[in-house]
Amino acid sequence: MSGLRRWCSSACLLVLLASSGCGSAPVLQPAAVESVSPVLEELLGPLQRSLDSRDRPAFLANFAPGEATRQGSQLFGNLRQFQAVRFRPAVQPNTLEVQWRVPGDAVATAQLIVLTFERSESGLVIGSLRPESRASVWLLGGTAVRTSARGTVIAPDTLVNARLTDWGRRLDRAATAVERSDLGSLDDGWNERLVVELPATGADYRALSSGTGVGAAAVTVCDNGSPRIVVNPTQLDAGRGYLDALLIHEAVHVATNAPCDPAGPQWVREGLAEWVAAEHSPSTRAYDREWVVWHLSRHQVPRSLPSDADFTGADDDEVLSAYALSALAVDVAVRRLGRTGAMTFLDGLSLPVPPEAGAVDDLTGWYRAELGRIAASG
Ligand SMILES: [Zn+2]
Repeated sequence: MSGLRRWCSSACLLVLLASSGCGSAPVLQPAAVESVSPVLEELLGPLQRSLDSRDRPAFLANFAPGEATRQGSQLFGNLRQFQAVRFRPAVQPNTLEVQWRVPGDAVATAQLIVLTFERSESGLVIGSLRPESRASVWLLGGTAVRTSARGTVIAPDTLVNARLTDWGRRLDRAATAVERSDLGSLDDGWNERLVVELPATGADYRALSSGTGVGAAAVTVCDNGSPRIVVNPTQLDAGRGYLDALLIHEAVHVATNAPCDPAGPQWVREGLAEWVAAEHSPSTRAYDREWVVWHLSRHQVPRSLPSDADFTGADDDEVLSAYALSALAVDVAVRRLGRTGAMTFLDGLSLPVPPEAGAVDDLTGWYRAELGRIAASG
């Protein structure tokens, strides 16, 4: 069975966490700036006022002719679609902090942009701009923003309107499915909204996933406290059922705040996401079953639940089977403990003081027994 990593691997998730500076979702506080560059301070007011008043010529007057104006034009077109955009000086010299949010975000997100300045006949202008580190989706090209009932889709402005509408509806279905999944305390704190980003190119996808989601159909990342589902552009033309399951899987990561506040074993995070997706997708159930059978055809019944290392190996097939085995472990927990009991148990595994070892031993025994039955039945 050849391996196509269908959606977010633990490896990409964990690396993204590190690279995007995730912690427990912070509410952005004013930057501690002791001395603001006078030239930057001179530009903040005109930039903010012109964006707030949707005055494009006034906004572009703050940029030097040529490439800087082109970038400024793209910036204006993109940022005017967002809520609560605020320009502020960053701690770093000559660096602008852009706060932004879209419907679906629980907190504002910040993007740092490094500027150079020029003096023109009309006064001080921006000569160039570049992201300080990871670029938000709106710095990668023209952007279309579609707000739906349960969140926001951010896509390239070249995506046709009907496709954007489709993704909005898919987002709504995924959020509704996860909300109704009764995850107990696991999704406490979720605002029941999603933000989905559809990068235009493979290069943009690699940039938004910090290069680690290359083999995945989608990843869920933490962008300064805001979870973002980023879909690989290679998947945009996939079938409806597949994409619905893909988005449900990622939506579980958002609902449990996995990218911004990872805790507990990887098999819980990925197993739960895959198990919920499988609840809504017969083809996902069949797919995962095949990977369990594949695993058992090559290995003895494992002695323990999947380890974090099982998700980071070089062999994609083994990684895929780790997802399927994790979903099976969650399924066994639900069947043995009941849905409410299983969710409480799984949530407990992420606490600083996890449940007593006996409970994990019980689950491990049930899990191994189920694998033994599958191995025996072929
Ligand atoms: Zn995942």
